[in-house]
Amino acid sequence: MHIGFLNIDFIDVVDVMLVAFLLYQIYRLIQGSIANKIFFGFIIVYVVYLLATAFGMELLSAILGQFMNVGVLALLIIFQQEIRRFLLMLGRSTSVQENAILKRFYTPKISKDKVSNLQAIVEATRTMAATHTGALIVIEKEDDLKKFIESGDEIDSQVSKRLLLTIFHKNSPLHDGAVIIKNSRLAAARCMLPISESGTISPTLGFRHRAAFGMSEQTDAAVIVVSEEKGEVSFVSHGGIFRNMSTKDLEAKLSEYLLN
Ligand code: ATP
Ligand code: MG
Repeated sequence: MHIGFLNIDFIDVVDVMLVAFLLYQIYRLIQGSIANKIFFGFIIVYVVYLLATAFGMELLSAILGQFMNVGVLALLIIFQQEIRRFLLMLGRSTSVQENAILKRFYTPKISKDKVSNLQAIVEATRTMAATHTGALIVIEKEDDLKKFIESGDEIDSQVSKRLLLTIFHKNSPLHDGAVIIKNSRLAAARCMLPISESGTISPTLGFRHRAAFGMSEQTDAAVIVVSEEKGEVSFVSHGGIFRNMSTKDLEAKLSEYLLN
């Protein structure tokens, strides 16, 4: 196709569309985080560098050129977290579970068994909310949480309301951090979750909630938070939160999320 002096073929169109898609994904990834500002700072330096080169300002372009030489490496280090998230997202959206064609040949491992003990969990959160006992409970969906389980004290026990209450009791040596539930087993307690850097989280929420957000951004796990301060129960998944949930809503939400 010819537009004026431009000669555009199909591949060029695909090329431009892919770049636009990539830029949009990068924008979505860094929006709201401090990475946003760093990225724009970097673009400003790059534009100044291009101008300096174009106008033949040798000293300035030499200095900025040095900066640009290590720029790619610097970007990789500064945006480590974002790049990880980006690759994770790519890997997940192209994974077998998401692919409609491959799905025919693959039955997801999610079964009723994964959520057989939701009632015990939900009842425990109700009691903890009433007594203002802080808690953080992560339920594995499809993404493997092994790495996070290993950060805590492995338990591997049946889940029961009493066990959860015992773990999160204020004087319990296991009450700090998160409990992770995998295949209906309480896999570990005292687990360390990643803290979200998102700028859109309400400032009234502290680190327990930020850890829930962080976990739900990096994995597809369902996270339940019981607030020690407010005595409310929240459900967090895929970076979104439902606050102040009733026992009934929480149970419905959990089984809906984990079974679909
Ligand atoms: P609350 O409403 O219960 O006060 P909050 O969101 O205000 O919760 P904090 O008061 O900061 O959060 O809660 C601190 C507790 O959260 C810690 O004692 C710890 O148990 C838990 N916590 C904080 N960061 C993490 C993390 N990265 N991984 C797991 N647990 C964490
Ligand atoms: Mg707090």
